Amino acid sequence: MNQPLSSKQLNSFRDQLNARLQELLDEIRQELHNTDEQQFSELAGRVHDLEEESVADLLVDLNLTNIDRHVQEVRDIESALIRIDTGEYGVCIDCAAPINPERLEAYPTARRCIICQQRYEQTHAGNSNPRL
Ligand SMILES: [Zn+2]
Repeated sequence: MNQPLSSKQLNSFRDQLNARLQELLDEIRQELHNTDEQQFSELAGRVHDLEEESVADLLVDLNLTNIDRHVQEVRDIESALIRIDTGEYGVCIDCAAPINPERLEAYPTARRCIICQQRYEQTHAGNSNPRL
């Protein structure tokens, strides 16, 4: 796999993604606060090792509709972190071209180069998350 980013850049993106993941988990914790705190504590205790279990899957298991909007973003971040580990981060999933680092700065979970993203959005009208 052709990795266009330096390890310094990758570390920076990994930090950004982890920080955003923690933010999301904090938001989710707030939302769950009055719902079932014990259930979330149990969940939070299991999310330290992302490779072992997906946070998103655990959240889906909880079946709470008010956190659905966070689940996709958690999933996108987990997927980006995995791509960093596998050396596929920053490479367009459609055409295998390097994604512009400035695009990644703005959207660290981006999976496509801007050209493929525009084409994807044209063929998937109504995409609820068009920035990716
Ligand atoms: Zn592309």
